[in-house]
Amino acid sequence: MMEEEYKRVWANCLEVIKDALGPENKKVFDTWFVPIVPIQLDGSTLIVQVPSQFFYEWIEDHYVDLLKRVIRMQLGPNGMLKYSIVMDQTIPSDPIVTTLPSHNRRTSQNPLVSIPVNINKDNAREIPDPFVIPGIQKRRINSQLSSSYTLENFVEGDCNRLARSAGYAVAEKPGQTSFNPLLLYSNVGLGKTHLANAIGLKTKELHPDATVLYVTSEQFMQQYAEAGRSGTTNDFIHFYEMIDVLIVDDIQFWAGKAQRTQEAFFHIFNHLHQRNCQIIITSDKAPGELQGLEPRLISRLKWGLSADLQSPDVETRKNILRQKLQNDGIEMADDVIEYIAYNINSNVRELEGALISLIAQSSLNKKEITLDLTKQMINKYVQSSAREITIDYIQKVVCDYLDLPVDIIQATSRKREIVQARQLSMYFSKKITKSSLAVIGLQCGNKDHATVLHAIKTIENLRQTDRYMRNMVDELEKRFKE
Ligand code: ADP
Ligand code: MG
Repeated sequence: MMEEEYKRVWANCLEVIKDALGPENKKVFDTWFVPIVPIQLDGSTLIVQVPSQFFYEWIEDHYVDLLKRVIRMQLGPNGMLKYSIVMDQTIPSDPIVTTLPSHNRRTSQNPLVSIPVNINKDNAREIPDPFVIPGIQKRRINSQLSSSYTLENFVEGDCNRLARSAGYAVAEKPGQTSFNPLLLYSNVGLGKTHLANAIGLKTKELHPDATVLYVTSEQFMQQYAEAGRSGTTNDFIHFYEMIDVLIVDDIQFWAGKAQRTQEAFFHIFNHLHQRNCQIIITSDKAPGELQGLEPRLISRLKWGLSADLQSPDVETRKNILRQKLQNDGIEMADDVIEYIAYNINSNVRELEGALISLIAQSSLNKKEITLDLTKQMINKYVQSSAREITIDYIQKVVCDYLDLPVDIIQATSRKREIVQARQLSMYFSKKITKSSLAVIGLQCGNKDHATVLHAIKTIENLRQTDRYMRNMVDELEKRFKE
């Protein structure tokens, strides 16, 4: 009789709670209260079992007042509620048992009493995988990784060296480095998704038993909402809490919305981080600039390493093109590759896009890929995305015209022809680009702004007085307009 007392107390509590929430909150009731299992009554303390740490935090966050009221109603002014969290045997026990009524349960002044409840694995319910269509059983989760975005084909350059090597370190020792979370950020099309995916693949290769999962922040949000609708929020949380390496792509998607999703993710993040599981996040901004995300989530994102991916320089762009061509088994002349690399400098996605449309055009029209065809195509391609002539490109055209290697611009030599190439590059850079004299100087042989100014005057003077120079400047001007 006595041992049934706790059940009766909790049943009464449930009734009051259900009533207090009202029929419009039936889902809340089903999700957050029905799963609570009473296990013991100790004087005026009721001990209940909850499915997870997240669950406990959630009800304490959202329903603490209601619970307090109800418990006191049933058990008198000294009534208390203690939680016991179900332990999965693979997770080191981390007993959080909290007591009501306490206002500062977040501080460690609370008397923490541990009541681990061992759930026999055989009895434990299988946690549904939100990626699996109900009915289809899968034992190992599908990582949702794309096999084509590998670390091997992620071309290295100054623009991505830190991020790439941090990624490699993480794949070697997931959760064991200080890069947790690893946050990769950049503008669009610079390789965040590729690199994040590649880290996932590498991790699986080096640690075949690790559970790796790639998810976009949008998918995560949808799944979370869906779980809420179908009353399976706990399963959702459980699923994510058992991942070893979690990759969440484009987290900025949650900015200004998805508050509940962010909250759920925050809890999952904490849980994984505590267990030394690896978290990899991508975003279009540095964490400090991510507006509209929860401050406490942002502060978590700063715990590990934030590495940015920058626009690749021209050498890296060439390497990326060569690599793509090699992958596809296509040959292309060097001058064609150079032309594309110099002219498409916005991001890697555009670079690939230009390459693909060039290949498509040539095969459709059965024309060979010549420099002329490339020029036509790229000009058309670039027009739409506002073609921007760079200082790099100017140097290249000038040096090609003078039949000099382009790196001569950076040399310290004062040989006449080299000085001239440098001055011409400076002159056209000022005319064509929006760069400041200081930036132009920096890129054209590390000179100061006075040198650039002097160069511009020199070319202008020569243009008036020297026929040879006039021809050269006119001819170059034509080339830049092509
Ligand atoms: P983001 O996620 O930053 O918008 P993606 O990862 O989708 O960018 O990259 C866009 C395209 O550029 C992809 O096809 C990717 O394979 C390619 N890419 C980006 N960076 C590199 C790189 N360093 N080496 C090879 N390919 C790259
Ligand atoms: Mg992306």
